[in-house]
Amino acid sequence: MNLLLATAVAAVLATAAQAAPPATLKAIDAQLDRDYPALEALYKDIHAHPELGFQEVETAAKLAKEMRALGFTVTEGVGKTGLVAVLKNGDGPKVLVRTELDGLPMQEKSGLPWASQATATWNGEKVFVAHSCGHDIHMAAWIGTARQLVAQKARWKGTLVFVAQPSEETVSGARAMLADGLWDKIGGKPDYGFALHVGPGAAGEVYYKAGVLTSTSDALDVTFNGRGGHGAMPAATIDPVLMAARFTVDVQSVISREKDPAAFGVVTVGSIQAGSAGNIIPDKARVRGTIRTQDNAVRDKILAGVERTAKAVVDMAGAPPADLKITPGGKMVVNDASLTDRTGAVFKAAFGARAVLQTTPGSASEDYSEFVLAGVPSVYFGIGGYDPAEIAKAKAEGRPLPVNHSPYFAPTPGPSIRTGVEAMTLAVMNVVGK
Ligand SMILES: [Zn+2]
Ligand SMILES: [Zn+2]
Repeated sequence: MNLLLATAVAAVLATAAQAAPPATLKAIDAQLDRDYPALEALYKDIHAHPELGFQEVETAAKLAKEMRALGFTVTEGVGKTGLVAVLKNGDGPKVLVRTELDGLPMQEKSGLPWASQATATWNGEKVFVAHSCGHDIHMAAWIGTARQLVAQKARWKGTLVFVAQPSEETVSGARAMLADGLWDKIGGKPDYGFALHVGPGAAGEVYYKAGVLTSTSDALDVTFNGRGGHGAMPAATIDPVLMAARFTVDVQSVISREKDPAAFGVVTVGSIQAGSAGNIIPDKARVRGTIRTQDNAVRDKILAGVERTAKAVVDMAGAPPADLKITPGGKMVVNDASLTDRTGAVFKAAFGARAVLQTTPGSASEDYSEFVLAGVPSVYFGIGGYDPAEIAKAKAEGRPLPVNHSPYFAPTPGPSIRTGVEAMTLAVMNVVGK
């Protein structure tokens, strides 16, 4: 998911010359009027019945059924629970359109009539499940886009590759599909790729940016090994709690003193676990965190600094070596410059001031990066999810609107799904249109 939508800047650009004629949006809207009731019903059904990463069996089956009815050739079970739907329509570019399938292990508190009550087993525990990232909106828009392109088949040539990937939230589903031979199953790598994400911006708005769009994320997990003993006799111990505390504070100097102040970089310690009683010095203390960057050289520098800080803390304490593990997670989504220019021009022509060019990348990370790194020139763009009147009311009351991953996150389906279908259809038609 992508929180940069919240900070979108409404820069107005001149409309480029190669813009699509307004008739295209008119045709899309006429078809949308016919399709929307079915899309909303699908959205509400998926929202009420979310499934977690690599468990999206029912969700994938619903999408597969819709795509087969539209005439796509569907392959299920790609990367465990993912699916790919292909439609050939003469010679032309091969275009990937991605949606995610998964929900989040959390309890929804939106109060919506179609709110989720679902539960599942996650890491051995029973948890609630909710579509609090908006992937249900994406699925409805994905089906809506497929309907549009089928209806407009006479106006374009090429091959559509509609990918529904599992487990985006664990940043592993895209890799699972690629490792399962996704490109072989579709007769080779696509020429272009598109994905969208709904966020807390105004519904009806579309956000786009060339270049770096999201951040890298690395998981930090370090266990400091000490020597336990009586809290009244610290000299007979090596105190891992002190090491964990010192590391948590000192590691921030990697950000403030070692990283270029102009470069983006975050180290957050989100979990410290140690000990069982106030008068016992424990054997171990475990510190977990997340590291975010938007530049590989900056990332290398921060990772080296984190490791050095952990080692220095151990040396100061005269302790045995720490167990340090840094697990790479999401990589950066980098939008293709020329494809973003072409797509942005079409967005501007169709949406005017509602097409917003973004100036800064976001600090979240996204699994779509795997498709970009696999060599598909892409545009990953944002759409707003909240009614502008609701945004104005919240602002007047000084109340922040819930963002993605909040249990209260509740995008307005009508304008979110409609804008998603309009923007995605325009983006795809722009590369396959006659
Ligand atoms: Zn998310
Ligand atoms: Zn998401």
